[in-house]
Amino acid sequence: MIRIAFIGLGNMGGGMCANLVKSGHNVAAFDLNPEAVAAVAAKGARAASSIADAVKDADVVVSMLPAGKHVLSVYFGPDGVKHHAKRGTLLIDCSTIAVTDAREAHIQADLSGLILVDAPVSGGVAAAEAGTLTFMVGGTASAFEKAEQVLKGMGKNIFHAGGAGNGQAAKIANNMLLGISMIGTCEAFNLAEKLGLDAETFFRISSVSSGQCWSMTSYCPAPGPLPTSPANRDYKPGFAVSMMLKDLHLAAEAARTSGAGIRLGEHAASIYQALSDKGFGGLDFSGVMKDVKGEIAG
Ligand code: NAD
Repeated sequence: MIRIAFIGLGNMGGGMCANLVKSGHNVAAFDLNPEAVAAVAAKGARAASSIADAVKDADVVVSMLPAGKHVLSVYFGPDGVKHHAKRGTLLIDCSTIAVTDAREAHIQADLSGLILVDAPVSGGVAAAEAGTLTFMVGGTASAFEKAEQVLKGMGKNIFHAGGAGNGQAAKIANNMLLGISMIGTCEAFNLAEKLGLDAETFFRISSVSSGQCWSMTSYCPAPGPLPTSPANRDYKPGFAVSMMLKDLHLAAEAARTSGAGIRLGEHAASIYQALSDKGFGGLDFSGVMKDVKGEIAG
């Protein structure tokens, strides 16, 4: 049994925290939102009243927060984790944040006598609840080994991506590819339909041909071929356009600082941005199909 403090109990963190309790760990949970704390307390976590209260006895701190500024302030701000955690405490940040913020967090942790891994996830709310997330971990080999003991209570696939920030690097490169491939998949289905193929026929052919990709076979944006995909519930998320935009902006920032060319990544961001500007930020990102088909005005 490991003593864990869990901070950030939103859509993702709530299910992840509950799974750590289910795995037999002793979990103290904190969020700014008291309702989120009450929800995990009902599942066996101890409701903590502050960051200090959550981390005072912890061996490991796990966080699932909106963005880099929240992560840096929760860990290293005026009343943050670093002022209350024991030396040598392992910090596992599962939020999706900029590679530069993650690397800054590693430096701050080192300076504070704490050990940090960046461990963003692939998989949405359903995977968080089911304990089937994929984790991409950046940090030292020994920190990864310790983190793995905790992460396996929340996920199925756990990868050591390399040193500080490499977990975030893997995450945004992967999600940029996803954002691009989804638009390409929508254009292919739309073209096939205009040329006289129905979605089922094109799916049967392309899903076993060279155009095959995850956006097609696991999340098909055309209604019909894949009953589980958001296309069959009028593109209710799933993974919203606004979340995809967040990741594409992080990719653009990382490309700027590293000098990598991402012409398609930038173009994909502009397409999702236009969708968001027209009021469709809450649509599943595969709903870009509506735009490709010309069903969105403006
Ligand atoms: P969310 O907004 O539902 O949850 C974030 C939680 O953090 C909220 O409950 C909020 O009250 C809490 N919080 C914010 N500042 C805090 C502070 N200073 N102290 C304590 N609690 C604080 O967001 P989410 O959908 O759970 O996403 C969390 C992270 O996971 C994000 O970085 C997101 O990009 C990433 N992510 C989300 C998904 C998804 O499908 N939702 C998938 C993969 C990755």
